[in-house]
Amino acid sequence: MKKNDIPKTNTDEEIKETAANAESELNEYELSVLRSRYDELDDDRSKIPPPEKKNQNKLVKFAKKNTLAAVVISVFAVALAAAVILLVVYAVNTFLISESKRDYRFTFGEEEIKVKYEETVINDVLYVDMNKLAEFTQMSVSGSAETMKYIVSADQYLKFTDDSEYAVINASKVSISAPAVVKDGKCLVPYSVISKAVASGLTFKSDSVRNTVDIKRVTYTVDDVEYNEDITFSTEDFKVVQAIQSTAGVEFEYTKDVSAYLEYIDPRDNSPYLVLVNADNPLSSSYVPQNLSAIPSSYTAIGEIYELENCAAQALIAMIRDMNAESANNGAYVTSAYRSYAYQLALFEGYIEDYVKKGYSASEAEAEVLKTSARPGTSEHQSGLCVDFITTAMKNGLNNDDFESTRAFEWLSKNSYKYGFILRYPEDKTDLTSYSYESWHFRFVGRTAATEMYVSGLCLEEYLELI
Ligand SMILES: [Zn+2]
Repeated sequence: MKKNDIPKTNTDEEIKETAANAESELNEYELSVLRSRYDELDDDRSKIPPPEKKNQNKLVKFAKKNTLAAVVISVFAVALAAAVILLVVYAVNTFLISESKRDYRFTFGEEEIKVKYEETVINDVLYVDMNKLAEFTQMSVSGSAETMKYIVSADQYLKFTDDSEYAVINASKVSISAPAVVKDGKCLVPYSVISKAVASGLTFKSDSVRNTVDIKRVTYTVDDVEYNEDITFSTEDFKVVQAIQSTAGVEFEYTKDVSAYLEYIDPRDNSPYLVLVNADNPLSSSYVPQNLSAIPSSYTAIGEIYELENCAAQALIAMIRDMNAESANNGAYVTSAYRSYAYQLALFEGYIEDYVKKGYSASEAEAEVLKTSARPGTSEHQSGLCVDFITTAMKNGLNNDDFESTRAFEWLSKNSYKYGFILRYPEDKTDLTSYSYESWHFRFVGRTAATEMYVSGLCLEEYLELI
């Protein structure tokens, strides 16, 4: 084989094969030529990119050649990935929420009631329909537009006011974690509140996974007869902010014999004597108290005739008798009692006329009069349950400075509750009564309520909230 016959090969394998076959036949020179060519090929081979990078190179090349298409495809790919992630999150959420927001199942004894989730869970608070509970437990229910009362007995009751941070449990005002919802005669109360307020007679169970509430009566058996345990309420798990104090230890001492007056001082049913009369709660123009009785003329200004509702009148007589007997009268007498609607109207219109004469317009005059006088129907005096005192020494009419300095005021402040009267517009409760302080104005409410208010330091508005 001649030099010229050395085959021109292209592949490594062919070169290696040729070299191997030729070795024995080729001389040194020929071999060196072959080897050097082989080495060159080796060098070239090192420049060949590794096979796994081939695709990437293709992509890069494609991207370089078609920049716009590459950008569009990349954006589309990112958007698709995001959409898939969002879809998964949404699906998981929807599934979980629909699971937990399913209807609630309330069980009152044997009766099962399904309630839509959004009707019984408000602002993440689980509520119980108090009317359903009252029906189940035979509690009596009374209420107004904004307040509902649930009564087991005279001293076991609950009171809820719409959107209030307080509730009443047995004459105590307590803070509650979430407000009640009172609307259209319906009352929803947080489950956490009612389940804590009930001290005995009922058991409460709730399951926030299966969305169930189970309320059962507690029973006991005597001689094979099953009875329901009495339902009682307790403030133990609540913060009490105001309460009617017990008057169990209060003893009533009188100077004169009041036995003939006690049935009036302490009427069996004192509810008619707790009427609230003010600008927001006016009496009708036709309201006249039943059983009006004249106050003895010796207790009034000379020549004046004043009347009160009969119980209030008899209680007033007993009170003034004792005040006189203790030489505490100091010349005090009654200067106002029952005032009819017609009287209030005449007075009111007379005041307006005075201003009109001074050049005020009718509406300006009324605005001026309302600064110091009650609109007809809004005066408590129409109830026939209150009196104003004055003393012979008070030449400037009714004013706090003069009356407060009398012995009569001191005595009435300390003793009027024994006769069923309260200082109706105290100095420290003007924001609650919406009335200026009136040291001379005493109101009959009956001895039980008057004593409870006196001992607890409550004005009528506060007291009525608690009963
Ligand atoms: Zn008065």
